[in-house]
Amino acid sequence: MMDACFGIRHRRNAGKATMPPASGFFIDVDHSNGVQPSEGHCANWSAGGRGQGLTSGADRNKLDVYGLFCGSCPHSFIRYMEDVTTPGERLNYSECMVQQMLRDIPPHVPIIVSYDISCKLAGRFCDPRLTFVLPALHVYGHVLRCQLLFGIRATESVGLIDGESVERIWPPFRRFGPQVKEMAQDNRRNFLNYVADTMNFARIMSIITVDEFLQKAGESRETVLSSLKAKPTAATSKKAEAIRSLYRVACERQYLIDHAATERGQRMNRLLTVTNQKLLKKTRSIVAKFNGLHQSDQLDYQDFISPNSEGFQQLLHINGDIAQKARAVKLRDLYFRCKEESQRVAAEATTILSDTDEDYI
Ligand SMILES: [Zn+2]
Ligand SMILES: [Zn+2]
Repeated sequence: MMDACFGIRHRRNAGKATMPPASGFFIDVDHSNGVQPSEGHCANWSAGGRGQGLTSGADRNKLDVYGLFCGSCPHSFIRYMEDVTTPGERLNYSECMVQQMLRDIPPHVPIIVSYDISCKLAGRFCDPRLTFVLPALHVYGHVLRCQLLFGIRATESVGLIDGESVERIWPPFRRFGPQVKEMAQDNRRNFLNYVADTMNFARIMSIITVDEFLQKAGESRETVLSSLKAKPTAATSKKAEAIRSLYRVACERQYLIDHAATERGQRMNRLLTVTNQKLLKKTRSIVAKFNGLHQSDQLDYQDFISPNSEGFQQLLHINGDIAQKARAVKLRDLYFRCKEESQRVAAEATTILSDTDEDYI
């Protein structure tokens, strides 16, 4: 999957690079030839490339990098990055990345390339290993011909992969946009390589097998269902109300903590610290108020500091973990229904066939 993000830029005069920029995940794109879209392409393409409208005249004078182009596997592991050094997203970026894939990926491995405008790239390659597809959501921006020829749902062997994996990389990446814009080029690349490495590593740590997943989801099922069936009493609803307020405060604090990591956040560090302390005080006062009214059922301040804290496990509808578990339960249900369906269809087909045989006799 490949895509560009125009939030990760670089100011031409920012910092002085002391070393040539490290490559790491980065590929440098050759712009000596303008890559033209293949025959019969969709109309939503202008000669200068996509995303031009996002770059003002002032930006063109100030910037030397306009965005980041990224390639990932279906699990959102970052594999390649390229600096977008033209004011729009040209086909050079994607073509160069696909060429790199052909060099890196062993020759017996088929490659499915999912890109928002795959229909324009497909005709430029004749390597039999390559299949070009349009991602599941982006496909609706294309004409019917593209939807049926290139849509990922019309492609064999991909299952329900949506081809949108890079989109899931941008949210954590984007918040570093203002910071990397002002870095020297060498530091900027080192930093982005480091972010990519860290994100990949975190994903490796979270991988589990299908069997493990099914077992865990099966265990969660009982918890989720019993929580859903339980009717709240008046006392528990008061408690729920308090915990919900605590959750809102914890989320707000988490947001400020995350924001402190950005360049803008660092500039307003003092304000963020003061606001954070105020919010902690608010948490304390909500807990104290509840404990004052309910002698038998006490809350502990330490259990409600961050949105992931223990205390929030008690509540189903405000609890991200239960929502996550519910998703796992749904996925497990879907897995079994899919299995059943194939058996059901096979059984039905056999019946139809045997009926037909009898008719002929
Ligand atoms: Zn198209
Ligand atoms: Zn993968």
